[in-house]
Amino acid sequence: MLNGEKSREAFERAEKVIPGGVNSPVRAFGSVGGTPRFIASAAGPHIVDIDGRRYIDYVCSWGPMILGHAHPEVVAAVQEAAAGGTSFGAATERETLLAEEIVERVPSVEKVRLVSSGTEATMTAVRLARAYTGRDLVVKFDGCYHGHADHFQVRAGSGLATGSIPSGAGIPATAAAATASLPYNDLGAFESLCREQGSELACVIVEPVAANMGVVPPAEGYLQELRRLCDAHGALLIFDEVITGFRVARGGAQELYGVKPDLTCMGKVVGGGLPLGAVGGRALIMDRLAPLGDVYQAGTLSGNPLAVAAGLKTLEVLDRENAFARLEQLGAQLEEGLRGIVERKHLPASVSRVGSLLTLFLSPGPVVDFTSAAAGSRDDFARFFHAMLEHGIYLPPSPFEAWFVSLAHEEAQLAETVAAAERALAM
Ligand code: PMP
Repeated sequence: MLNGEKSREAFERAEKVIPGGVNSPVRAFGSVGGTPRFIASAAGPHIVDIDGRRYIDYVCSWGPMILGHAHPEVVAAVQEAAAGGTSFGAATERETLLAEEIVERVPSVEKVRLVSSGTEATMTAVRLARAYTGRDLVVKFDGCYHGHADHFQVRAGSGLATGSIPSGAGIPATAAAATASLPYNDLGAFESLCREQGSELACVIVEPVAANMGVVPPAEGYLQELRRLCDAHGALLIFDEVITGFRVARGGAQELYGVKPDLTCMGKVVGGGLPLGAVGGRALIMDRLAPLGDVYQAGTLSGNPLAVAAGLKTLEVLDRENAFARLEQLGAQLEEGLRGIVERKHLPASVSRVGSLLTLFLSPGPVVDFTSAAAGSRDDFARFFHAMLEHGIYLPPSPFEAWFVSLAHEEAQLAETVAAAERALAM
């Protein structure tokens, strides 16, 4: 490993005062081994570590940096907002502007509440669904991630039962007991649950394109059937569009697949790289939130002026740049390049992509759920990851993550990435 000295020292120093040396677990390189790179700066499609090495970045902060890093207009918008005060704890006109932009784009959203993270958005959505339906049971799907609130940390119970076991310490059995986790893309499993427990079901929460087990698109008709079954059983359908929102299409996955959820969770792109999330949906449900209604939710930094300014500017630039056609074109180039290697070398690998979200699975596929997503060898992935890093390509340090392409990536960098993959996969 070249020149990793400064990162190594920084990591050792961090480990003394920060658990595991990082403020979010996957940054620690736990599943690939080695020392995480400490980042000094970033611009466009590149990040630079404190050892001075530059990488083409496919993490893109796990999604927010859809325009690339340090986009000059976003930086200027944040600077201007900061100069006028960084937080007031009182209403601002900018928040209404961002809410209007969201309502105009996302087909199912009539009203929206701004929060500070994706986790807050999903927590609020589930609380609203429980209040609105007067029921407790939540259905999620194996391999989907919805933030770190208690009731999402649930391992799939065998079969369809509730009473799942928590998958981490510190989570009361009672919090996990009201969550069922079912296989993704498996309508039969959900139909069975509906038959047995449909009258207890408050909501189904789903990533409309799963992107936290690697990219797994919904099977044809899957989202439509979830919608129909939720309606049939009086349950709400929640789309967690924290990754897909403002990325797979202007109005998110619900626009792409033509299915309207009752509630939508947003984050990442909508905050332009600053801490911001949002939950939105039908006015009748959203108006249950305090101060109008009886569902409590609040936040000191909610609708923060800097985050709102970054989000507004990001959405504006996306519209101006005809972004989604371009992102599709870039994603397709990367997919074709990687698929070409897999075919030429007859590798047991498969490429999965929706727009600018892509995963190279080191297993033959087809990848349709968590079981098939997890079929590849973790050691093979670790070797591939480190070889790519040596070639100057920064991939997500886990086989279960999406690669994020931004508008700042250019054809030449994608070609360089494919060439690096060709060499890395020859090892
Ligand atoms: N939902 C999804 C689909 C996510 O990918 C994430 C974060 N990766 C979250 C929710 C949680 O968002 P945050 O990390 O901002 O709390």
